[in-house]
Amino acid sequence: MCRDEICEHSTTPLAAGVDDGAQPSADTVDRRRLLMAAATGVALTLAPISFTPARADDTAKDAPADGEVTRVVTGHLATGAADFVYLPVEVPKGVQKIAVQYSYDKPAVPAGTPGNSCDIGVFDERGLKLGGKGFRGWSGGFRTSFEISNSEATPGYLPGPVNPGTWHIALGPYQVAPQGMNYQVQITLTYGEPGAAFTPNYPPKRAKGRGRAWYRGDGHLHTVYSDGKRLPAEVAAGARAAGLDFMVSTDHNTSASHAVWGQYSGDDLLIVTGEEVTTRNGHWLALGLPAGEWIDWRYRSRDDAFGRFARQVHSVGGLVVPAHPYCPYVACQWKFGYDDADLVEVWNGPWTYDDESAVDTWDAKLGEAVRTGKRWLPAMGNSDAHSEPQVIGLPHNVVYADDLATDAILGGLRAGRTWIAESHTVQLTFAVTGNGGKAGIGETLTAPTGAPIDVRLDVEGVPNGTIRFITDEGQMHQESLPASGSGSVVWQTTTSLAAYVRAEVRHPMADGTPGKGNTMGPNLMWGPMAALTNPVFLRRSGA
Ligand SMILES: [Zn+2]
Ligand SMILES: [Zn+2]
Repeated sequence: MCRDEICEHSTTPLAAGVDDGAQPSADTVDRRRLLMAAATGVALTLAPISFTPARADDTAKDAPADGEVTRVVTGHLATGAADFVYLPVEVPKGVQKIAVQYSYDKPAVPAGTPGNSCDIGVFDERGLKLGGKGFRGWSGGFRTSFEISNSEATPGYLPGPVNPGTWHIALGPYQVAPQGMNYQVQITLTYGEPGAAFTPNYPPKRAKGRGRAWYRGDGHLHTVYSDGKRLPAEVAAGARAAGLDFMVSTDHNTSASHAVWGQYSGDDLLIVTGEEVTTRNGHWLALGLPAGEWIDWRYRSRDDAFGRFARQVHSVGGLVVPAHPYCPYVACQWKFGYDDADLVEVWNGPWTYDDESAVDTWDAKLGEAVRTGKRWLPAMGNSDAHSEPQVIGLPHNVVYADDLATDAILGGLRAGRTWIAESHTVQLTFAVTGNGGKAGIGETLTAPTGAPIDVRLDVEGVPNGTIRFITDEGQMHQESLPASGSGSVVWQTTTSLAAYVRAEVRHPMADGTPGKGNTMGPNLMWGPMAALTNPVFLRRSGA
């Protein structure tokens, strides 16, 4: 029997007075009596909550000119709830602050069955339209309350006027137990004069830099502005401690932190603004967004909306990077393909088996690009660090760029002139020479089919590591480093033998032995990655 408002296929008003076992108070609205205002596969809008207008001339008799009014809403969501459930709130004139608290039950579930988990955010009177102007903040499942006023807001939310009109609290019930989810939302409006406007402090788009050089940076970092426990100051300090030249702020689904990074950047640290766009079908990094720009996340692969938001990011000069494409957590696996991607994050945090899968997919895409002649997809590596003990800069990108400036760094990443390092103690150079020419990472060397080509890797900082050279045919060369961790390897090939060549440097296996390339067996073949390069392409003259 379907008696709850989340009954998606019913538009019949539910009978009033369904007994929920509680005595409704004057300020309690029983959501079970509500009609469904709108229901699609992705979103459901509930009936609105009204507040008394603030002043007598707005027809109110009992409303305060200042002070607070609170409404409490309860409801039930069944398994199979819409991805987003919107609770409209009619905000009258004269409100200076909106405060929201929510909670939901967590009934016991059998092992292996997801329990209740519900995100929250809010849209203002400018509306809910996909990609529209109404976004005012998101805290996922990290917080149980938030506040917004003209002067300040809870991290993750955007300070600004609390204008009259219909606001929407967005619930994201991304896991619902078999018993369903009982939720309660409490909304408090505070009347009065708005405070002084919040002043954003956006980071500059250039740091001091060393001209054209290799720059190290972590492109995926979280703070208390989404679900991290680190303050922005702590993340910036962590980036400096990791020896990084730049970092990108990528809190989930919100641009709110952009406005605070100015005070933590400096000549020595470029801070780039971004967002981790967290959908139900995978996460993607929008890197290099103009400060304050927000990218919508309310769609799945089936909704055919991703391309539009990828274009939005491209139109403002940013990069689209599918993140941790094989992460096994709910809703984390990448289902949007790579046609709109500028790079792919093949290494996310400490090396794990899902990263092996990402590297394999990426390597296959290199072969595809060679066949089609279309743009190739460079690899990226980022820490995705949220909180202690996750290490900022493990791993990070080492990018060849014209300057330590946002556009230059994004350009280096887009061109694949980058390699990925586990830490700043790992150093390498990788290049090919032949036919009188030389090409480095992300570049192409053209030579006659028979001309010998030297592939050279110089590396430091990986004791007893293993160097692998990999081409479109697979691993073609393997060599061990000494205990000092430093060494050089030169291997020869030709443009007819290899369409591209890339290098990996691996730590030893858990038992201390090097991995064995070109073998199969029941166990992982390799120790953790210490460094990974983007490829150098080899082209046959006249081909
Ligand atoms: Zn993610
Ligand atoms: Zn992340």
